[in-house]
Amino acid sequence: MSTLTIDIFELARSCQTLEGEVILEDLGPLRERDPQLTVSPIKFVATGLGSIRQYPAVSLSIEGEAQMSCATCNRLVSVPLAHELTFILTKSEAEADSIPLDEDEEDQDVIVGSTTFDVNAWVEEEVLLTLPMVARHDDCHYEPEPEEEAPKNNPFAGLADALKKHS
Ligand SMILES: [Zn+2]
Repeated sequence: MSTLTIDIFELARSCQTLEGEVILEDLGPLRERDPQLTVSPIKFVATGLGSIRQYPAVSLSIEGEAQMSCATCNRLVSVPLAHELTFILTKSEAEADSIPLDEDEEDQDVIVGSTTFDVNAWVEEEVLLTLPMVARHDDCHYEPEPEEEAPKNNPFAGLADALKKHS
């Protein structure tokens, strides 16, 4: 797959908009957590914002959908992915570390920019940060029986005791 690289400082300065689609290729570590995980091609919009606090800035919004295993019934559940974040660009790691994060601006991050900035990796990282740890159907009908109703028939009661003995 071809990687898309841009001069992200130029994008910020020119206040232009870049739109595209990214296919996530490396879901390896996440698949260990959820073997059924798939992620749709992610639509992204990157927009130059001129400057924020005297640094070049861009916004990135992503939109797509993941399929994950429901934590209750283990069937697939669709998880909409939508996120928008503002990035302040620096020229080096040292400069990035020197910028105090504005605590009033939760949706703001600082990254090291580049004239050959890898847009795919940028979008991919945002998707990974947006994915929930656990997914569940809104109205999942596979809730286990509440423990207090049938404590003696609970197949996990013995397991819980066994775990306690080991701790
Ligand atoms: Zn479910």
